[in-house]
Amino acid sequence: MVIPNIIRLQGFATLAAMNHEPRATRKARIVCTLGPASADPATIQAMIGAGMDVARLNTSHGDIAGHVATAERLRAASRAEGRPIGILLDLGGPKLRTGPLAGAEPVPLKRGQRLRVTPELVGSDARQVHVNFARLAEDVQAGDPILLDDGNIELTVVEIKGQDVVAEVVFGGSLGANRGVSLPHTRLQLPSLTDRDREAIAAGVRAGVDYFALSFVREVSDVAAARATINACGGDIPIIAKIERRKAIENLDAIMAETDGAMVARGDLGVELPPEDVPVQQRRIIASAALHKVPVITATQMLESMINSPRPTRAEASDVANAVWDLSDALMLSGETAVGRYPVETVAMMDRIIRRAESELQVSTPPAPRANTDDHSYVLALAARRIVESDANMRAIVCYTSSGYTAVLMSKVHPQAPIYALSQSQAVVNRLSLARGVIPMLCRPVNTADEVFRLVDEHLVESGAVAEGEEVLIVAGLPVATAGTTNFIKLHQVGESR
Ligand code: PEP
Repeated sequence: MVIPNIIRLQGFATLAAMNHEPRATRKARIVCTLGPASADPATIQAMIGAGMDVARLNTSHGDIAGHVATAERLRAASRAEGRPIGILLDLGGPKLRTGPLAGAEPVPLKRGQRLRVTPELVGSDARQVHVNFARLAEDVQAGDPILLDDGNIELTVVEIKGQDVVAEVVFGGSLGANRGVSLPHTRLQLPSLTDRDREAIAAGVRAGVDYFALSFVREVSDVAAARATINACGGDIPIIAKIERRKAIENLDAIMAETDGAMVARGDLGVELPPEDVPVQQRRIIASAALHKVPVITATQMLESMINSPRPTRAEASDVANAVWDLSDALMLSGETAVGRYPVETVAMMDRIIRRAESELQVSTPPAPRANTDDHSYVLALAARRIVESDANMRAIVCYTSSGYTAVLMSKVHPQAPIYALSQSQAVVNRLSLARGVIPMLCRPVNTADEVFRLVDEHLVESGAVAEGEEVLIVAGLPVATAGTTNFIKLHQVGESR
């Protein structure tokens, strides 16, 4: 496993302090799940003010038309605030669940008792439980574990009887209605996309969302199938593969090679794996994303106690800081902002913890290129970082990027200097709101290198990012119309093209 090589520096001794401060910008991005507590215009606006970079709309809850309406409110708020906000539409995927209860009260399940697990739509009681998967009995074998209520209750399969499974309770508990079901050791013949996912993809493409998150990815073909569906709807929208299945961990590198981004979905991952494996896999997934140069989000229970409390636990603050030091591109809030009592305060708290953690972080060694690499773009990005770090007058890196590729590449070599990304595409600007250390800016279309230099001068001075006469390093793919390659660097004195 590759663990990113970092040095935590004390106080004024940071390179940032010597070269590039005081213009400190937060590098790790904040993704907020919107829900009943936060989907109104005033709260959206306040959350943008507090530091939200990307909004996640979770189709596991609510109706799809409601999410489309929230996406429209987000676009309006982003325009009003003058700040790009990415919109990530999370597809619920084939989640297995129990059904409604037979009675009004949760059902106590005791160790040693046997029960019928059935696709038949029966109310759950102490003798039988419905699971919404018709082929359950075809796929399981005696001895397979069945986890109910997101792992709080464990059954083991005893025998198969027709379409039903007889299971014995290994760890008991109280079963409520519609609880999550997981079979971590069983290969289930589930489709990778449900009908509802297809409906959400069509609506998301029409609404112009910036990312789709794909739940319960098991193998690379799941990502390919989602991409084909997005394309068939006329979209070319990047995919974030949620790594939450044991199978996805086994197939991690192949999935990373196909996906446009990843999420460490610690909620479901923690059901499929023992708790002690989750932090290990978090680091492994982030390292794999670094190798494949795609953004990665660390998600779930980051400031969970703030659902009900205005202050986080100290352990949660440490978890956020460690996700920053692990080099996550973005950190995600779920229930905290979707249904919590303090959505805006939670974003502000996450912003504070990230900034403090980053004040102690300098990435000493970016991931090395593969041996004998022909990835010249990456080698050039590494060189760009070296140049900036060896010149104390260099204020920033400025990427001109038509696809976003150059800016993501620069982000993945983790320079201490801010990365300004100029793009003529609003979609690219919105997508780059997920990339660590990147400050995206919309610019007018240009055709030549000289026009790129003029753009840099205009945008950096007007935004107050860099003053006239200061030096920046321009990194781009030229000619301008060629997307997907990074082949150009220039030491540039701001204002010299005017
Ligand atoms: C997770 O399981 O951690 C996750 C982010 O997925 P969801 O919120 O969709 O369950």
